Amino acid sequence: MTAAAAHMGRLPQANRLASRLVCGGCGTVLAPADPYPFRCPHAGDGRDHVVRRVLEPGMLSFPTDSGDPNPFVAYRSLFHSHHLALAHGMSDDDYVSLVRALDGRVADVDGRGFRATPATEYPDLARRSGAGGGLVVKDETANVSGSHKARHLFGLLVHLEVVGALGLIPPGPLPDLAIASCGNAALAAAVVAKAGGRRLQVFVPTDADEGVVTALAAHGAEITVCARQSGTSGDPTYLALQEAIGRGALPFTCQGNENGLAIEGGETLGYELVATLLGSGKSLDHLVIQVGGGALASAVAQALEEAVGLEVLGHMPKIHTVQTEGAWPLKRAYDRVTRHLGQSRDKGAIKAAIGSAARDRGDYMWPWETTPHSIAHGILDDETYDWVAVVEAMLSSGGQPVVVSEEQLVEANRLGAEVTGIKVDETGSAGLAGLMALARAGVIGSDERCAVLFTGVRR
Ligand SMILES: [Zn+2]
Repeated sequence: MTAAAAHMGRLPQANRLASRLVCGGCGTVLAPADPYPFRCPHAGDGRDHVVRRVLEPGMLSFPTDSGDPNPFVAYRSLFHSHHLALAHGMSDDDYVSLVRALDGRVADVDGRGFRATPATEYPDLARRSGAGGGLVVKDETANVSGSHKARHLFGLLVHLEVVGALGLIPPGPLPDLAIASCGNAALAAAVVAKAGGRRLQVFVPTDADEGVVTALAAHGAEITVCARQSGTSGDPTYLALQEAIGRGALPFTCQGNENGLAIEGGETLGYELVATLLGSGKSLDHLVIQVGGGALASAVAQALEEAVGLEVLGHMPKIHTVQTEGAWPLKRAYDRVTRHLGQSRDKGAIKAAIGSAARDRGDYMWPWETTPHSIAHGILDDETYDWVAVVEAMLSSGGQPVVVSEEQLVEANRLGAEVTGIKVDETGSAGLAGLMALARAGVIGSDERCAVLFTGVRR
């Protein structure tokens, strides 16, 4: 790493990197030397500002032959931190060593490091759920800390380690990391932060699961319980997180508007799905994804779009999203966008409608008015923070949002767990509930191939 540090003075230009970090709301390009390029500097003016990692397709190809079981090694050539590292003179070998060392420390904390998760065809489940042309289940329940969330956060940790190794971080004590969550995201953050030797502040609601809080404390996280204030709308843990960020903590969160770079780590799930499709020689017609804050859907859709852009995937599957009757702010936003769009699904018209929606965020996305409840409690976010990217992915791919009942969530979970033997919870199998609803509504054709993501283990 000392060789890399010697290159400190030669800061790369944004246009020389294979990726740029660009605000999806206002177009601001973040400076490549900024060690914490998580949030748009113009956030807070009523526009929807989310930093996105944008690849330069002409400078890249999709890694199809790495064979490395660790997705953060296999797909490193698509990561902004890799582009930054190489531009500063760090060697590819040093980058890989850094990732493997961090992964080893994750394994020390959690008993397992990052490996490509299984994606399995279940013909029986396909038949019984209405996906007549076949169904792939991508199983994240055995991933680090028991869900996909750790992917998002490990990508951030790699970035933090890289900018540290490159000498881009100002001298002085390292800032705390901070997250608002009561479930899988907090657990993942605690594991990954501990692996990185970083202090973590976690803001949890009053009804947080006792087992989760105990596990967070065991990993050394600093826990703050936040009560809902009468007369104030919005998630109190999220408001507390924003205050902590205001005091200098770094957002170590899966909420894209607080940390746009969190999307990138989650893309590894999509890249693995692409590899599965390429390996099977079969294409995919529909992908149904459960949505809380929207980072998962945003990440997976972006990964598939990149694979199409890099010409390894022939076309996008239709991206559908699932929320519960408890709270469906994403569908509410989608309905408002389509009201402006009318029947047109022309590329230019979608871009214009999305651009206009991002300019007037408050007309499309605001906190759900009532305290939401559902058995799928992991997708009850008051707001869909990554809504713009997800609405755009649905519109441009021809997908749609679906809202499912508690009965549908229970039925899908029972069926999915029984047929696959995967210990998935109702949040984790909510995509299957959505698929079954879409099949019953005739949206999914009897010969079409589908995929769902089983995201969280039953604890
Ligand atoms: Zn912006």
